[in-house]
Amino acid sequence: MKLLLLGGTAEARELAARLAGGPDLSLVSSLAGRVRDPLLPAGEVRVGGFGGVPGLVGWLRDERIGLVVDATHPYAATMQANAAAACDRLGLPRLRLARPGWRAGDGDRWHWVGSLPEAAAALPSLGTRVFLTTGRLGLAVFAGLDRLWFLIRCVDRPSGPMPARGQVLLARGPYRREEERALMERFAVEVLVTKDSGGSLTAGKLDAARDLRLPVVMVRRPPPTPGPSVATVEEAAAWVRRQAAGCGQPNASPPVVGYAPPPGDPAPDRAGEARPSADTGTPPARRGV
Ligand code: NAP
Repeated sequence: MKLLLLGGTAEARELAARLAGGPDLSLVSSLAGRVRDPLLPAGEVRVGGFGGVPGLVGWLRDERIGLVVDATHPYAATMQANAAAACDRLGLPRLRLARPGWRAGDGDRWHWVGSLPEAAAALPSLGTRVFLTTGRLGLAVFAGLDRLWFLIRCVDRPSGPMPARGQVLLARGPYRREEERALMERFAVEVLVTKDSGGSLTAGKLDAARDLRLPVVMVRRPPPTPGPSVATVEEAAAWVRRQAAGCGQPNASPPVVGYAPPPGDPAPDRAGEARPSADTGTPPARRGV
């Protein structure tokens, strides 16, 4: 059984580390190629887009993929929709691995917004010195806010339109609470902007903002794709092992693509192979608020 693991997240790397080299399974991880020097997962890796749904369908066929785990970032909505459409078209089992969103606690001053433009619109009433942690793409929507000053943190240097006043800080997490607080104090930050990425690796900024009583503009996640979803690497690994155990040797046979049984011929018994809408046998993922 050959697995495509759509990655670009810490969870995808953890899952690859668990599965690479295991029995009954060969694994290829896929990265979009956005980051110049990405952290590479264990095992085989391919980099770059597939060319939309048609490209992905062709690639899945050519590579004889039998199983897909979509562990892309919660905001990678296009890739998630494409994976769902391609797997539906080919009848391939697909699992979404999505870490739960963050939840506000006592002392948090979060302002939920639906998009980056809404975040930009909310900022002038919340502060003039902004810590922007939404990534290097989408900075253009903040470009017109000339009266605000921005500390822009991202992994690679941004290009294109961006705020006129500010400083770019190139860094890659994880980030600890104390370091985040020191950074915010050093730059006299008044408001934090973030996506609801979830997980512990970048949550230090939220703790620091609470410590400093700073408002946080939290950009909501796009709606999740329908289908089976789990919240942890453990659950995803268990799902993959169940699927692989039900399907025999690695690459023993290509996936059944477009199979339609002749009249009177019952569909083949593909024990353990779930359709995208099937129950995963695991509890549903906790979703962000
Ligand atoms: P996106 O908007 O959903 O995807 C845009 C296009 O990029 C897709 O249509 C696909 O191109 C390609 N692509 C995306 N993820 C891919 C993958 N894992 N492997 C191969 N091609 C991929 O995605 P995005 O938000 O730009 O995110 C790109 C990557 O960065 C993802 O792997 C994601 O996990 C990671 N990431 C994203 C964020 C975020 O805030 N969005 C944060 C951290 C990490 P084709 O149509 O040509 O196939």
